[in-house]
Amino acid sequence: MKLKKKIHVYSTLLMFVLLVLANILIYFFFGRMSYNTEYEQLLGRAKELTAALSQLETEVDADIVLRAFIPANGAISIIDSSNKPLLNVQSLAGLGKVEGKIKSSDPYTINRYDGREALTISMPIIWPTGEVVTMKMTQLLTDVEENMRALKYVLIGVTIFAMIPITLSSMTLGRLVTQPIEKLIIAMNRSRQSGTYEKMTGVVNGNDELAQMERTFNEMMEQLEQNYMKQEQFVSNASHELKTPLTVIESYSRLLARRGFENRDVVDEALNAIISETGRMKEMITQMLDLAKSSGSEVFEFKEVDLTPLLEAVVKPLRQAYDREIIIEADGPAIVETDGKFLKQLLFILLDNARKYSDREIFTSIKDEHDEVEITVKDYGKGIPQSDLPHIFDRFYRVESDRSRKTGGTGLGLSIAKEIADGLGATLTIESVVDMGTVIRVIIPKKRTVLSEF
Ligand code: ADP
Repeated sequence: MKLKKKIHVYSTLLMFVLLVLANILIYFFFGRMSYNTEYEQLLGRAKELTAALSQLETEVDADIVLRAFIPANGAISIIDSSNKPLLNVQSLAGLGKVEGKIKSSDPYTINRYDGREALTISMPIIWPTGEVVTMKMTQLLTDVEENMRALKYVLIGVTIFAMIPITLSSMTLGRLVTQPIEKLIIAMNRSRQSGTYEKMTGVVNGNDELAQMERTFNEMMEQLEQNYMKQEQFVSNASHELKTPLTVIESYSRLLARRGFENRDVVDEALNAIISETGRMKEMITQMLDLAKSSGSEVFEFKEVDLTPLLEAVVKPLRQAYDREIIIEADGPAIVETDGKFLKQLLFILLDNARKYSDREIFTSIKDEHDEVEITVKDYGKGIPQSDLPHIFDRFYRVESDRSRKTGGTGLGLSIAKEIADGLGATLTIESVVDMGTVIRVIIPKKRTVLSEF
């Protein structure tokens, strides 16, 4: 059975059972109340009769008194101590013979007379002769039966009438719950068949779980699609970028094969080019691996780190290796909660760029700004044109291919730096003026409560 039908059938059945049970209870209690009312009335009449009988001195007039108290559609019988009927007055023939054995725990009995119900009460009284006898008073429950029959029809009518909206609402409920699931199945099937990232169609309103499920599914598909596109673009960029050094290596190898044995200069030039291109490829592959790792599930380990010694640790080897002047300006310790290993990698990328694209001194500073710390890397080099700034963090983006080629750049450094900054919860800003220089700021929050993954 389909989920829609299940919800419909089960909820309708449940409501039907509840309704029937409620109506049975109403019917039962109403019956009880009616019997009790009839009993109270009959008891009152019996008490009055007892009082009237106690006034009599002989049993001659007892018959007349009994007739005066006989209920409409009823009977009164007097039975002596040896269970012999003494007197019997009745408005319907045979009604007085209605068997009314009353248990001591029951105040009255219900018997059948001519297919109808009759209520009988029994009580001991003192007969005018002084003997203690039993008086039985019986009354047909015609009104009660009629009321009960009417109530039965009303309750059956109410049940049938109530089932109409119940059936309709259970159908609506079934549709409401299963509609998004059906849409989800359609979207998943379409995705499976076409190999694309299909979303659930239709407008998603509301804040309930089903609307949330639709929105989450669509967002997930959107994200998967974006990731897939990024991946595809990365693979095509990577293969394109690797093709250039491979072509250079191939053409120089051919040149070597053709003319390398006769000409020493050709050998020198070809080998230098091959060595340099191989180095570039190696660096590119290392960075691509870094990027692949960073878009995986690497977990940052946040702990308190003093940024001043951390920056010094990055600057020192650069100073020594390239013999460049790198100034650090810091006012004592600057403690932040971050992952020191990744932050070092980020700062290295920025400082290495400053070194590659400038010739003068490089200036770095650490500034404490209330809840965050700002690290600045400033150079007085070539700068970046304004039109290139929005793309500077894109993978493989280079301002001028030639510029990077000469400096050995791959166009991956800043995109790695950006991914690290995002993972650390830090912000990267860049300002640059062509032929004046570039300033990159890393703004790191001092406290980080949530562990982040990237
Ligand atoms: P690359 O490996 O080519 O340096 P990056 O992603 O680190 O790759 O940088 C992208 C481009 O931005 C570089 O090609 C370079 O032209 C430019 N660039 C980055 N940093 C600087 C800087 N400090 N000064 C001038 N240009 C820069």
